[in-house]
Amino acid sequence: MGVPLLDLKSQYRELKTELDAAFAEVMENAAFIGGPKVTALEDAIAAYVGTAHSVACGNGTDALFLIMAALGIGKGDEVITTPFTFFATVEAIVHTGATPVFVDIEPGTYNMDVAQVEAAITPRTKTILPVHIFGQCVDMDPLLEIADRHGLIVVEDACQAIGATYKGKKAGSLARAAAFSFFPSKNLGCAGDGGIITTDDEALAAACRTMAQHGTTKKYFHDSFGVNSRLDALQAAILLVKLPHLDAWNDQRRAAAAVYDELLADVAGLELPVVREYGDAVFHLYIVKAADTETAERVMRALNEAGIGTALYYPLALHEQEALAKLPGFQRPFLPVAESCDGRTFALPCYPGITVEQQREVVRVVEETLGA
Ligand SMILES: *Cc1c(COP(=O)(O)O)cnc(C)c1O
Repeated sequence: MGVPLLDLKSQYRELKTELDAAFAEVMENAAFIGGPKVTALEDAIAAYVGTAHSVACGNGTDALFLIMAALGIGKGDEVITTPFTFFATVEAIVHTGATPVFVDIEPGTYNMDVAQVEAAITPRTKTILPVHIFGQCVDMDPLLEIADRHGLIVVEDACQAIGATYKGKKAGSLARAAAFSFFPSKNLGCAGDGGIITTDDEALAAACRTMAQHGTTKKYFHDSFGVNSRLDALQAAILLVKLPHLDAWNDQRRAAAAVYDELLADVAGLELPVVREYGDAVFHLYIVKAADTETAERVMRALNEAGIGTALYYPLALHEQEALAKLPGFQRPFLPVAESCDGRTFALPCYPGITVEQQREVVRVVEETLGA
């Protein structure tokens, strides 16, 4: 019995009639960029997340860049973030001209260790960029308190966390602005690239929109230099069909995670993900940590041989990447928790529709390999 890491084909089959109809409607109308579908999606996402505004754009990386550029973050500024995230988080910072400053992560949740943020603040710090990694919110209240005290802006990278909550509020509504990605493998994915910004700040939303459209507020009149970052109507149409299913899909991810928690509870030598009591996680990925890299490799090889999907998230923390070493003035910090994850943290299949039988098979292979 093979088990993929994620099963997008069955999701398509589940919604085929509606998705095909939405696709055909956009083709018939031949309005491909912007238009009513994109506006409807912006309204739907803002309502879902609980913000006053949202701005669709080309992808999650652009969403991060547009927010920071619109906030005026640039050369000479520092942005505090986590080294345990997808590279795009840091790329967006660097492309504004600002310098990323890394703080270590918490074991178990793999989220930014908020207790270490204050020590990283310098006179050049402008922004804190927490990432709700693997679909669990960062502990935002103490982070916002620190930011407030130092006059810093907080921006959420919520690309993996659509639908996750923190003290009853949704990821994406917890700080000044947030970035979401609709990359196909995200919890809400389109059929290509897509992204969106959420915020309560009307002026910031307008600035992001201008920035995403070549610095225009009126067609062919340019107040500033922007970029081209737009969401296709086809993608918006697909996302409008999928959004009503998101909560049920996230429930299924949580249920699958609970099954692993139970089945793996007695397996020695494997650290299971920790969920903090302040919110609901949406398990973009279910990550386990092996005792060492050799064990991780052995388990992953056995899973692959059994036809089970797995991958390292992430093989190398960002502060250790070659691209950062080349960044002028970058001093590589020592971040022991993040570095302890290198080559050791990997994903087990955890997606809507996975069956308990499939999960038992995954656990059987893991247990057999570990000799449990
Ligand atoms: C996917 C992702 C991004 C980038 O989103 P794209 O749509 O691929 O550009 C940024 N940050 C995190 C944490 C992500 O998982």
